[in-house]
Amino acid sequence: MSTIVITGGAGFIGSHLCDSLLQRGHRIICIDNLITGEIANIAHIHSDNFLFIKHDVTHYIYVEGPVDYVLHFASPASPIDYLQLPIQTLKVGALGTHKALGLAREKQASFLLASTSEVYGDPLAHPQREEYWGNVNPVGPRGVYDEAKRFAEAMTMAYHRYHGIDTRIVRIFNTAGPRMRMNDGRVIPNFICQALKGEDLTVYGDGSQTRSICYISDLIEGIHRLMLSDIHDPVNLGNPHETTILELAQRIIQQTGSSSQISFRPLPEDDPKQRRPDITRARELLSWEPAVGLREGLEKTVAYFREKLK
Ligand code: UDP
Repeated sequence: MSTIVITGGAGFIGSHLCDSLLQRGHRIICIDNLITGEIANIAHIHSDNFLFIKHDVTHYIYVEGPVDYVLHFASPASPIDYLQLPIQTLKVGALGTHKALGLAREKQASFLLASTSEVYGDPLAHPQREEYWGNVNPVGPRGVYDEAKRFAEAMTMAYHRYHGIDTRIVRIFNTAGPRMRMNDGRVIPNFICQALKGEDLTVYGDGSQTRSICYISDLIEGIHRLMLSDIHDPVNLGNPHETTILELAQRIIQQTGSSSQISFRPLPEDDPKQRRPDITRARELLSWEPAVGLREGLEKTVAYFREKLK
């Protein structure tokens, strides 16, 4: 049994990590300030091995007793969230990562950073391999997230190289599933809720931009394998099945049996035109690849939002 601190543990990915690691018999200390995380995501957990601490990890993190792993998942993560919370996003990526690394150092724990495909910016290389350095606009609206995560990666490698901390970096591509916030502004909750309510699906731009959507259970499995590995370089985790946003809208209308139409809205500034992970590294080093296809993942996510909208 390991003791695992999860920052952002009440968020979408963080709460699934709490569930999965509790099931595997570990003790979880979940830290979240609930600015984008929700108590509802962890309210079902009734375990003596689970402790929730409401705390902003940009401030000193105090945890009693030994800790084996620190998984740093705290951050606003949807474009709407980080546009509304730009300073918090920069602070949690920078100061929060520093504090979480400090905790790992103090406890001689392993550390895993939740990074993002956003470090590749609006990528000029396709699909994105870990070796690609990215094409990020530091002063654009998404810069607050992209640069915070790039700083977080640099800080993680500095703690690894200078302090000898046992670190991992996962670059998470678009992921969907239950517990995404209905109003977080991301494409999957938007389209599914619009389709279920019979409203127009709002496709930004002409919908030719692409994304590749991974189902949450696949991502969690990959994170677990990475956590147990000894890979210090970044590893992409995502589903390489690429779709245009317009195709995604049509698919969601069809899968939900909705009578919704599609309406086109302006493309947000610096919206990446294409995104697909190259997962060769995860395949080779973690023997990981996604098992849940887009149709099945969407079905499960639609079922969740149907319940929510009741
Ligand atoms: N998008 C869209 N309609 C929406 C929400 C998003 O067309 O209602 C587009 C958005 O412009 C982007 C893609 O869907 O090209 C994915 O957006 P999301 O906010 O999910 O995250 P991103 O991958 O851009 O970080």
